[in-house]
Amino acid sequence: MGAQDLEKPKCQGADCSNDAGQLQCPKCQKLGKDSFFCSQDCFKRNWGTHKAVHGTQSSNPLGNLFTPKVISEPDAEGHYNPFPTFPFTGPLRPVYPLSPRRELPESIKRPDYAADGTPYSEQIFINRNKVKILNNEEQNAMRKVCKMGREVLDIAARACKPGVTTDYIDEVVHNACIERDAYPSPLNYSKFPKSVCTSPNEVICHGIPDQRPLEDGDILNLDVSIYHGGFHADLNETYYIGDKAMADPDSVRVVETCREALDKAIEIVKPGMLFRDPGNYIEKHAKNRGCSVVKTYVGHGVHTLFHTAPNIPHYAKNKAIGEAKAGMCFTIEPMISIGTHKDKTWPDNWTSVTQDGSRTAQFEHTLLVTETGVEVLTARFPDSPGGAIPMPTPVEASS
Ligand SMILES: [Zn+2]
Ligand SMILES: [Zn+2]
Repeated sequence: MGAQDLEKPKCQGADCSNDAGQLQCPKCQKLGKDSFFCSQDCFKRNWGTHKAVHGTQSSNPLGNLFTPKVISEPDAEGHYNPFPTFPFTGPLRPVYPLSPRRELPESIKRPDYAADGTPYSEQIFINRNKVKILNNEEQNAMRKVCKMGREVLDIAARACKPGVTTDYIDEVVHNACIERDAYPSPLNYSKFPKSVCTSPNEVICHGIPDQRPLEDGDILNLDVSIYHGGFHADLNETYYIGDKAMADPDSVRVVETCREALDKAIEIVKPGMLFRDPGNYIEKHAKNRGCSVVKTYVGHGVHTLFHTAPNIPHYAKNKAIGEAKAGMCFTIEPMISIGTHKDKTWPDNWTSVTQDGSRTAQFEHTLLVTETGVEVLTARFPDSPGGAIPMPTPVEASS
């Protein structure tokens, strides 16, 4: 019978006499072997000889050094996939570690969940279908925060390009909030770790900004929510990353269909509109384009609370309760998939992806119902980045 080895392990680098650090060879880890190294450098230098201990099915982590699709072996910067055994539905992988939690000046007014992650004021279930009517002063506060939200989204969108990580986009959003004396609403909302949701390709929504660089050909949804003057703004758009994305017919179809579906839903908003109605228009348009509508996530009331009544589903024949009245504020935020509408959540408990790995797009506005119609509080500015593009013309086969 052996005894537990309590001696401090030495670095397994052949030319190294350092004590081992916390760094383990991920391949060995997967194979159930112990092998500690003192540093990434030492690990890399010794890879050529070390990999022999893995047997035949070894893969070369150095091959991942400069590709954004990091798998479970840490690359040069120590990036890794935290869920290597999870059955991912598409090509996208999380690229950890997440950056440390971003700080805010004490002077910025926080929503009630900022400290411990629990949105206490949203958890009052008396009159849960009752929708708040905002007075003039409250409507002006919503106008102000929504305009700021648009500014922040536009700043973030301008920073999106191939090679930039979603964590960097998060930093851009966080700083743009601080500059406006605003709190980034997602930060610690039900413990969400970051200040914005970044959802590329097959991610439906609630993607966590991480170390994956954007690639030419990605589509990326940025969902910005900010809190200022006691009110939340909530808006999102999907952007093409690089020219490759704009030349991909499937990507353009799902993105433009979703953009148009939101516009069609907004057209019908006025006093008396039933909350179950927008879904009929959204799904009809999606189906016309061969796309499907995600059912799991809905539009929501937004004002002093981030998510509250009413619920506004985006699919047809839903049973949402209630009707729009002047002075109400809510979002409509359809998620459209080019394949299945069915979703699955990653083990991070946030990232929602399509079950078949197909691409999805989302667009969102915060709306104020007026006496005669609707005011789009988060409307685009004349110089806002992004915007509709035509379907790419198919490359003609030479005859
Ligand atoms: Zn949003
Ligand atoms: Zn929303």
